[in-house]
Amino acid sequence: MQKEFVVIGLGRFGGSIVKELVNQGADVMAIDIVPERVDEFATIATQAVVADTTDEAALKSLGIRNFEHVIIAIGDDIQSSILTTLMLKEIGVKRITVKAQNDYHEKVLRKIGADQVVHPERDMGIRIANNIISNNVLDYLELSDEHSIIEIRVNEKIAGHSIIDLDIRARYGINIVAVKRGNEIIVSPQVDEPLKLNDVLIIIGADVDIHRFEKKVL
Ligand code: ADP
Repeated sequence: MQKEFVVIGLGRFGGSIVKELVNQGADVMAIDIVPERVDEFATIATQAVVADTTDEAALKSLGIRNFEHVIIAIGDDIQSSILTTLMLKEIGVKRITVKAQNDYHEKVLRKIGADQVVHPERDMGIRIANNIISNNVLDYLELSDEHSIIEIRVNEKIAGHSIIDLDIRARYGINIVAVKRGNEIIVSPQVDEPLKLNDVLIIIGADVDIHRFEKKVL
C-alpha cells in the first residue's frame, strides 16, 4: 500500500523528513508559507504547496483529511504550530506528529491531542552527550523518561566473560537484547558464550540500572 504523508514547515527538520520519506518511496505533500521554501521542494515532493496552515479554509481545500499522517515541523512560531495542530485534529486527521520547541510547547501539544510529540534538538543533544561522555557508549535511544536502549562496546574489562559470568540481569536488572559482532547481529545471544573485545552489546533497561552497569564495567 502506498503511504501518504503531509509535512508542514520546510525548514531543516521538516525538509529532511520530506526527503527521507520520498527516498523510502512514500508520497509526500510538502507545505510552507514561504514560496521560496516550497520551490526548493517542487521537484522533490510529490506535491509542494504554498499555504498558511493556520488558515482553516486553506487546510480544508488541500484535502489534508485524506492523508494518513501529518507531520508539523513549524519551527519557532509556537502559536502557528499549536493552531495548526488544533485545526488538523478538528478536521479529523488520523495521526499527527508535531515538533516541539520546548517543554511548555510539548505540554500544550499533548493536551490538544497531538499523537506524537518530538523534540529533535533535545533528544539529539542527549544522544550526543551520551556518546561523548564515554568512549564505550556508542548509541543511545530514549524509550521513556526512565528507560533507554544503549549500545555499549565490550572493553578489556568484560571481554572473555560470558553474560552469565557478568550476571547482568540479576545484578543490574537490565537485559542484553542483541550482540553486534563485526557485521553480524546475534539476536538473543547465548548466555554462556564469552563476549569478545569490541563486541557491541545492545542493552535495554531503566536508566538508573544502565548507569550502575556502566559505572561498574566501563
Ligand atoms: P528548522 O529549525 O527545522 O530549520 P524553521 O523555523 O526554519 O525550522 O522552519 C519552519 C518552517 O515552517 C519555515 O519554513 C516556515 O516558513 C514554516 N511555517 C511557519 N509558519 C507556518 C504556517 N503558518 N504555515 C505553513 N508553514 C509555516
